[in-house]
Order: sequence, then structure tokens, then C-alpha cells
Amino acid sequence: MQDYEYLLSSLNEVKGIGNKTIQLFLKKKIKTIFDLLWHLPISKLETSKTTDIKNLQIGKEQSIKLFPIKYNFPRIRNLPNRINCLSSNEKIDCIFFNSYEGYIKKILPINKEVIVYGKIGFYKGKYQITNPKLISENEDGSIKDLKNYSLTEGLTITKYNKIIEEVLKRIPDLKEWHSKNLLEKFNNVSWKQSIEKIHSYDYKKLENSDYLRRLIFDEILANFLISSQIRLKIKKIKKKRKLFNKNIKFKYFQKLNFELTNDQKNAINDIEKDLNSRERMFRLIQGDVGSGKTIVSLIAALNTIKSGYQVALMVPTEILARQHYFFSSNFFSSDIKIELLSGKVDYLNRKKIIKNLEDNKINLIIGTHALFQKKIIFKKLGLIIIDEQHKFGVNQRKELSDKGGNDCDVLVMSATPIPRTMMMTVYGDMDVTLIKQKPKNRKEIKTYSKLDSKIDEVINFAKKEIANGGQIFWVCPLIEKSKKLDHQSAVEKYKFLQKYFNMRVGLIHGMMDKDDKNKILNDFLKKKIDVLVSTTVIEVGIDFPKANVIIIENANKYGLSQLHQLRGRVGRGDKNSFCILIFKSHLSENAKKRINILKNSNDGFDISEQDMKLRGYGDILGFKQSGIKKFKLADPILHRDLFDLAENEIKKIEKNKSKLGDYYKLLKLYDRASIINDII
Ligand code: ADP
Ligand code: MG
Repeated sequence: MQDYEYLLSSLNEVKGIGNKTIQLFLKKKIKTIFDLLWHLPISKLETSKTTDIKNLQIGKEQSIKLFPIKYNFPRIRNLPNRINCLSSNEKIDCIFFNSYEGYIKKILPINKEVIVYGKIGFYKGKYQITNPKLISENEDGSIKDLKNYSLTEGLTITKYNKIIEEVLKRIPDLKEWHSKNLLEKFNNVSWKQSIEKIHSYDYKKLENSDYLRRLIFDEILANFLISSQIRLKIKKIKKKRKLFNKNIKFKYFQKLNFELTNDQKNAINDIEKDLNSRERMFRLIQGDVGSGKTIVSLIAALNTIKSGYQVALMVPTEILARQHYFFSSNFFSSDIKIELLSGKVDYLNRKKIIKNLEDNKINLIIGTHALFQKKIIFKKLGLIIIDEQHKFGVNQRKELSDKGGNDCDVLVMSATPIPRTMMMTVYGDMDVTLIKQKPKNRKEIKTYSKLDSKIDEVINFAKKEIANGGQIFWVCPLIEKSKKLDHQSAVEKYKFLQKYFNMRVGLIHGMMDKDDKNKILNDFLKKKIDVLVSTTVIEVGIDFPKANVIIIENANKYGLSQLHQLRGRVGRGDKNSFCILIFKSHLSENAKKRINILKNSNDGFDISEQDMKLRGYGDILGFKQSGIKKFKLADPILHRDLFDLAENEIKKIEKNKSKLGDYYKLLKLYDRASIINDII
């Protein structure tokens, strides 16, 4: 048996844990001993000293011996359960809010002396203890100070302490996984010592101790290591080199009315090397909105097709799929066969497309996630491009990459810049190319905030811009009016704005029919309408060079990164561009700070970094949807130095390619996704 296996075993192994308790823990997603260890004590309870009833102090938490004598369980909601007790023959009550009768009867059996601990109150001439915790059933033994844990619902605090004590007693001396050098940075404290220490009392007081820092570092390193192992594994699989003439692209560049930026050229260069190499490509192109990622991906597609393979381009929305389809149909000559497959293509057409994919009669297929259904079979898929999919987690990316087969390269493009400290956490499984430069002709977008009551000013401003040849996006959080939310709805705003803009207003949202959507987008592109009212469907990727004003209603609803993305829909042409954020009421100080970040910066990386500092990392970039786990202890803002240290360590391990050594154990313990089972 390996020394770490005890930690991964089920809670059955712990003395004193029965099935009922196991069920309680399972409900809280605690399966193993290792899981349990991460629920840390929140404070120390001074339970060892019992206080005589005469010496109780109101407002303090104290322990007292008492006899329960009578239950009062009112059947009326909101009224607490009250248990009358005696202590040295004086009356005292125990009060329970939100506790089950069964639980109360268990911890306060009638006429049995018990010791309880809790906050002392005084009501109608009597002492009372609210939501007391049971300390002992008076088993004559001495009483210890207990630790207070947050997860004790359904268990007495005594029992929970006993369980943890049992668990800690049996923690094995794990063979150290860190090198000597590294361990010295934490004053050589072992994993076991550290765990024991953080269970000794309020762990937050240990913030700068070597014990806590070592555990935080272990957590970060394990997280990075999993991603890095996936990356190495993907690279180990050898594929056929893709061979193409690097000069073909220049012919296509001539069709563009702009010069590529150096960063775009670098990105194309990185990709060409990857396509050419025998290692599979698994690369992220990270570039702010409007940095010109589309063209980079199309050159990747071109090269792949010219080397005899098919390409799949996956985007998150129908609208974007259509836009990419039109753009690439114009960009490529007719020798490249392009099709659009979205959830809304009708049955017959779909069948035809599927057949043609199988027969290799389609070179480039563009679509939403519908592209990755089982029944879709490629004859010779050589490249998967995923656009704007920052919400994918490590697991999903790996699945996608597996799907393509061994010769298939993967290119992911993201427009959501993330703080540098989070890069490894989110994209550690990929090689990353950054596009930081914006195209030269980009104008800065001026950002303003306006109160909802000043809508007339906003309308006048918009009219002026339209008279100057501009176009307006008008974004609302809801499609239709909601009874629950007091937010602007696109449908209503559309009706409202018609009369102000000579009926040259369009409406688009996710629930509309695809032909209607298409028509509106075309009307907007061709300037048949001046104002496009929409929900956030326009958030991702869409490109309208003539639009130069974006008005965002209920702007406080969105995160900074999302607002920055929305704002990126304008400022793509040669006109001065504006973003107007509309608020219902005056802004709080914190909200003002956040909006100022947006006003003062047009750099997505910078914005995300500052936003993370204000809001914490969990809230930014929709991590919740991404499947990216939250850390238990680590925090990219507080522990930046440890993130950097871990990144360095990973680089060393990667150089040493096949030797994972004792870090294997670290992975085994910390990997909840069980990804590693099939990588090692
Ligand atoms: P994103 O990185 O947000 O996907 P796009 O690829 O949609 O950006 O590009 C935004 C707009 O900028 C498009 O109209 C595109 O044709 C144009 N564009 C791309 N690269 C350049 C460049 N180097 N110079 C000028 N315009 C460019
Ligand atoms: Mg894009």
C-alpha cells in the first residue's frame, strides 16, 4: 500500500464514523479523508472551563453543566424551540432556531446532565443559551477545548472534533515530493506537519506561516501540474507533418485593405511551425477584442487545407458562425469549399452536408457546437479551430482534442484577456501566443456613464453621430419585459426608439428566427438601419466596421471584462467611437472605481488584472461556468509569489520531460478530475 492511499480512502476507514455520518458528509461532497481535511476550523471554543450559573456573563460564549427538564416545540413557523433546563437548581433555557427536534432530543436528553457551550443571553428574568453546542454527555472524563468547524450540521461539535482527531492521528508521514531546494523556501515543514498545524485553530491566523504557504503552494503546483501533464501527453502523440507552401497566403493578403500587425504575423508564424511539426498543436491565441484573430485563424485553415486536410471552425453563436461563413466565403477563392452547419440548418441540407463531410467534399466547415455531434464524421480532419470559447474548461478542451484523432491540430482563440497570474490556471494545458498590438487604425473608444433619467441627452448624441455617418448599438439585458427584474428589455426599447430615429431601428435577439436575424444584420451592415437594439448576442465576435457608438443599458449588471468585450464591438472603423454606460441610479463608490478602470483603459489585460484585484478571482470571467475549479486555499491576488514560484517549477519539470518523480503522489492526491489516470 502506498503511503498516500489512506488519505484517498473512504470515510469508512475512520473509527467512529457510521453510515449515517458518511451520508451527511456525502451530501457535502466529502468522500475521502483527504476531502475532509480541507474543511478547516474557523475558531477555537474555550469549552474546557465550565462556568457556574452564578458567574455567567451575558454576551459571552461559555460552557455550563445543566439538566434538561422540559421540551417546548411550538408548531408555529419562526418561533424557536425552547428547552427548559436546570443548573445548580436555577432555571436556564436553551433556545434553538432552525434545528430538528430529533437533533435536539439527541443532544439534550431529558434529565441527563450535559455540558453545553454557547452564547449566554438573558430574557424575562432567566438566562438562556441560543443554539448551544453539546460538549459532553458527562462521561466523567476531562473536557478539552474544542475547535469550531463550519460543517457540523447534523453532528455534534464533540463528535466532529472526535472524527477529525481520529483522522489526524493516522495521517501518514508522506515521502516528501519537493526537492530540497524548494522545501527550504518553506523552512522544511512537511505536508503532514502543515496539515496538523492548520487544524490546530483558526487557520486564517496562519496566513504568513510556512505551514499554510506550503499547502497553498502544493495546491497551486498540483493544479498546474495536471494541465502540464495533459499538454505533454498531447505532445507525445506524433502526428503527420502538414506540408504546404508558406507563400500561398501572400496572395490572399493582397485582398486585404490593411497590413497585418507584427503580433498577427508572429501568431501565424507560431501556427505554421506547429502545423509543420510532428507534435500535435494545442495552441491558444489570446488577443483582445478587435486585435484581428479571425484572419490569423483563416490562414491556419488555408495552410491545413492546402496540405490536404479538412478544417472545422467552431463558434459559440449562430450569428457569429454566419459572419465567419460570409467573411471566409469572400476571402477564399472558390477552390476552397466552405459550408455552414448550425443547429438551424434544415434536415435535408444537414444530411447533404454530413455526407459531403464524410466524402471530403467540404474543406472548411463552420458552425456551432453542433459540429461535434457523434454522427458527424470527417474524412480527414486536420485542424479544429475554436473561436471565443474562453468558457471551456481543461476537461472539455481535452475531449475536443481527442475527438479529432491523432493528426488533428487544435487552435483556440480567446478574446477574454485574463490576469497573468491566472494564465497557467486556465490555459496551462496549451501553448499560448499573445496578440497584444491592436491594428494601427484603431481609434480609442471614449467611455461615459449616464443616468437613466438623462436618456434624452443620449438620444440626441446618437442622432448627431448618425448624421455624421455613424451607427449605434443599443444593448439591453432582457429580451422582453420581466415582472421580476426591473431591467430594460430589447423589445420595448426597440418600440420606444422607433419614433426618435425615423423608424430606422432594428431589433435582434437570441430567440429570433435565423432568417429574421440574418436580414437585420444585413440591413445594419448595409446601413439600411441606424440603430440596432439587441441583447448581448452581439457580445461575441461580430464585426461591423461602421458602428461607432455602443449604448449599454443597466451597465451595472455586467462584469468589467464583459463590458470591455461589448465595447469592443465599436471602434473598428475610422470614426471616433463611444461607449455610453447607462445606470439606473447613482453609483456606489466601489462601482465608480470599477467604471473608472474601464474609462481609463482600453487594454483588456490591464482591465482584467484590476478587476480581479477589486472583485477577487472567483467572479471574473465567468469561471463558474467554465468548470475550472476554485482553489481551496490559494488566491491569485494574495499569493501571487507562490503562483510565480509554481510556474517556474513547472518549467523545470517540463524540461525534465518524462520524470514526474515524487510529484506523482501530489497529483494523485490533488487531482479531482481523475484526468491523470489516463495520462500517466
Ligand atoms: P477579433 O480579434 O476580435 O476576432 P477580428 O478578427 O474580428 O477581431 O478583426 C476585427 C476587424 O479588424 C475586422 O474588420 C478585421 O478585418 C480588421 N483587421 C484585422 N486585422 C487588421 C489589421 N492588421 N489592420 C486593420 N484592420 C484589421
Ligand atoms: Mg473574433
